[in-house]
Amino acid sequence: SRFWNEKTKGLEPYIPGEQPKSKKLVKLNTNENPYPPTRAVRDAIAAANCGDLRLYPDPEATALREAFAKYVGVKAENVFVGNGSDEVLAFAFDTFFEKGKPILFPDICYSFYPVYCRYFEIDYETVPLKEDFTVDIDGFRKENGGVVITNPNAPTGIALSRDDIEEILKANPNRVVLIDEAYVKFGAESAVPLIETYPNLLVVQTMSKSHSLAGLRVGFAIGSAELIEGLNRVKNSFNSYPVDRLAQAGALAAIEDSAVIEKRCRRIAATRQGVSVALRSMGFDVLPSKTNFIMIHYWNADTEAMFQYLREHGIVVRHFQGPRIGDYLRVTIGNRSDMRRFLDAVEEYIS
Ligand SMILES: *Cc1c(COP(=O)(O)O)cnc(C)c1O
Repeated sequence: SRFWNEKTKGLEPYIPGEQPKSKKLVKLNTNENPYPPTRAVRDAIAAANCGDLRLYPDPEATALREAFAKYVGVKAENVFVGNGSDEVLAFAFDTFFEKGKPILFPDICYSFYPVYCRYFEIDYETVPLKEDFTVDIDGFRKENGGVVITNPNAPTGIALSRDDIEEILKANPNRVVLIDEAYVKFGAESAVPLIETYPNLLVVQTMSKSHSLAGLRVGFAIGSAELIEGLNRVKNSFNSYPVDRLAQAGALAAIEDSAVIEKRCRRIAATRQGVSVALRSMGFDVLPSKTNFIMIHYWNADTEAMFQYLREHGIVVRHFQGPRIGDYLRVTIGNRSDMRRFLDAVEEYIS
């Protein structure tokens, strides 16, 4: 359009996974939680006073930040809250990284990072994953303007240990190291305990996957007070009231209900194990996942044809284009009956 400025003309936006209109489809394409929000969340949102919506929300989301800080074992001054972790990540890229100092992230990781880099005019270089799809820690020892790691990684599902993350932090004491822990509750070690020792560590988490609240849009950053203050400077230069009243109420209730939620995460991890075993026995390569999804590959299948076959049988998964991951499908772990349908369809396809 002739009305767009030069920056807008040059953008290449992120393409989110499809949200199909039909409820009949088994939706295993965007890593949502198969279980609904817990009763406490529904009650808290229902109890929120609609009349209060005429008032602005608490700009600091104080109660929510305090509850989350307690949940992860830090102080409220170490927590930043935003509209989903995508917004928190965008603020972090804008606050800590810049042109002329290329940041590093793996060649296969969350595909929103290069989109933020183009938008905020940040240079980046990618570090290839190793042959087995694990993150190459030594690749993050070179000169850089910052480091971003998805842990566990998406879309591979493979996790680094906290010790591995600490190696990366030790190699980069003068740069912000951002760890995106969107899937950490499904079985990986969180880097949050390291924030006391490493003022350059920023951990980003979300209520979307583990807490069944993708539609509410609440995400967090956890880091030194110095990093959090930087994020607030940018937020308050852009939109100082970001998280709405209903989202603050619902997310607070979800955090207070974490014991129930973590039990569900373990149930999803158990389903993941069962599905992985079943697929391997059919001859699939299944990457070792610590998330609520798996990356799978069948030795003699045309991946796109398998994707289409599943789609025609009412099952939506995700097929990323690109070298190496193009041979795989990413499959979200749904409830047991979803996964039964998925396994039946896959078995039919390969036989
Ligand atoms: C889903 C996801 C996000 C975004 O989550 P929201 O909090 O819903 O914005 C961020 N990072 C990764 C790796 C994700 O998979």
